[in-house]
Amino acid sequence: MASCERCGSYLTPTSLGPGRRCPRCGAEGAVTGGDAASEPARAGAGSSTPWHFVVLVSLVALYLGWRLVQGIVWLVGIIG
Ligand SMILES: [Zn+2]
Repeated sequence: MASCERCGSYLTPTSLGPGRRCPRCGAEGAVTGGDAASEPARAGAGSSTPWHFVVLVSLVALYLGWRLVQGIVWLVGIIG
């Protein structure tokens, strides 16, 4: 996935402007990635994970853990 180094926004290949210009901040030449050859290397590095995805997964895990605790308490209430 291509991303802009200046504003940090992630860009789809079709949203790239002419000359790989960022459509949000207009920075030219600041867009990195997006090449098919560079995708596996970037995915393997592990540093290209968007921060909002990490936050989302963490919150979902926290919510599901809390629902598991609620389910266990409910089961204990039913059984005894
Ligand atoms: Zn930008």
